[in-house]
Amino acid sequence: MSSTSSQIVIGLEVHIQLSTKSKLFCSCSNDSFNVAPNTHVCPLCMGHPGTLPVPNMKAIEYAIKAGLAFNSEIPHETKFDRKNYFYPDLPKGYQISQYDQPCCVGGFIDVPLDDDKKRVRLRRVHLEEDAGKLVHPVGANYSLVDYNRSGTPLIEIVTEPDISSSEEAYLLAQKVQEVCRYISVSDVDMEKGHMRFDMNISLNDGDGNQVTEISEIKNLNSFRSLKKAIEFEAVRHKEAYEKGERLIHETRGWDDDKEASVSQRSKEDAPDYRYFPEPDIPKIVLSSDLVSKIKRTLPEMPEERKARFVEEYGISKKEAGTIIANKYVAEFFENTLSELIEWASTLEGKESKKDDEKKKLAKLASNWLLSELYGLMRPERVKIQEIKITAENFAELIALVYEKKVNSSAAQEILKEMFMTGNDPTHIMNEKGLKQVDDIDELSLVCDTVIQENNEVVESIKEGKESALQFLMGQVMAKTKGSANPQKVMEILKTKIIGG
Ligand code: ADP
Ligand code: MG
Ligand code: ZN
Repeated sequence: MSSTSSQIVIGLEVHIQLSTKSKLFCSCSNDSFNVAPNTHVCPLCMGHPGTLPVPNMKAIEYAIKAGLAFNSEIPHETKFDRKNYFYPDLPKGYQISQYDQPCCVGGFIDVPLDDDKKRVRLRRVHLEEDAGKLVHPVGANYSLVDYNRSGTPLIEIVTEPDISSSEEAYLLAQKVQEVCRYISVSDVDMEKGHMRFDMNISLNDGDGNQVTEISEIKNLNSFRSLKKAIEFEAVRHKEAYEKGERLIHETRGWDDDKEASVSQRSKEDAPDYRYFPEPDIPKIVLSSDLVSKIKRTLPEMPEERKARFVEEYGISKKEAGTIIANKYVAEFFENTLSELIEWASTLEGKESKKDDEKKKLAKLASNWLLSELYGLMRPERVKIQEIKITAENFAELIALVYEKKVNSSAAQEILKEMFMTGNDPTHIMNEKGLKQVDDIDELSLVCDTVIQENNEVVESIKEGKESALQFLMGQVMAKTKGSANPQKVMEILKTKIIGG
């Protein structure tokens, strides 16, 4: 028995919170961020007897929209079922979910790999309500329940066991996030718990025989823990196989601090959910009219947008991939470019040059976005939709750089100020005197002063140590507060010291 060719087999159940205004079966607000516990609640989502659920059509439409984006079939009819179990955060004693007639059947997700893609088939995408939340105050011998989340609409995307590594699972999860944001069915904000995973894993001997029982790791709430949990379980399963053990079919939890999974219950102890059709909600007909109406609302998908960015703006696949990965970044980039293209059309120049110019501007905008602006955003952990810089102002900065009205280091300073205050770049440039100095006479004067003050350095340059020119350049920059045109300074210094 050899385990060298053994292969892990993974299937995911991905839960995503839909961004509808109200909950799935009542009119309570679905947005409880920064809201006191138990404020967005009513008798229905608190599970009081005698209440009647009314399905939120918007949530059903969102689920179908997701299904269509993931290539699922939409059946003519769907229904809700009760999944019965007891837990304090589930006041009714059952969760309304979908069992044998989900609203989306089958489908697939193409996971982008380096130069290839992996197709992961889907079993289904269904709708269900979320439970409330238990709060365990530190040191207290009791727990509290917050029902704000109770009745929040979720979709659950269930894959076939087609995933074979932690990397594939990670990329698939990212893709799901990307697509759900593109189609505007969820913000998929991980910090707000909008996306959670259950991960099923077993081991295959490489010849198609399953050699360990499935472990299901429940409630992973970040990409990182998904990846870590798979890596941990892969080792556990391989070690068991090497020892000739099969493991037991069980549900496990994930401890983020210890980076280890812990057994919760064996499959024998699994609750019997006694699914049965929800008697208070009639079957729902999904007419072909409704489905085609939803289909028409599907926007350009990430892969299509990536291809268009490469084609239209001439940026690299890698850059385009980074930009499109986040819908809001892609929109910011596109808005910046439309400003720039409009601006460029007012400049003089031959029509034939316009496309070339557009690509140069796109390249510049992409560089400034991915290195400089990201560089400011990252340490602050802010999202692009939260920053004070508008696409219009960002475009203006790119135009200043493009026209060489400011040099690179001045532009960085301006961007920093824009990031902090939201002011427009031209205003900042004038206020701080950062406009690039191109005037030869003015630059010559500064160079003369610097040459006089640095006799030894000048001598060493004359003896051939040209690298010391950089030092003098630094001095000129310091005296001009970074606003001198560096190419011109270099030319002047060389002419004055080396001659010719
Ligand atoms: P349930 O959770 O209702 O019992 P299943 O266990 O059939 O349903 O499937 C749940 C998840 O388990 C799916 O994502 C599926 O891809 C995955 N799965 C099924 N078989 C395996 C397997 N042999 N190894 C790993 N995952 C599996
Ligand atoms: Mg399951
Ligand atoms: Zn309610």
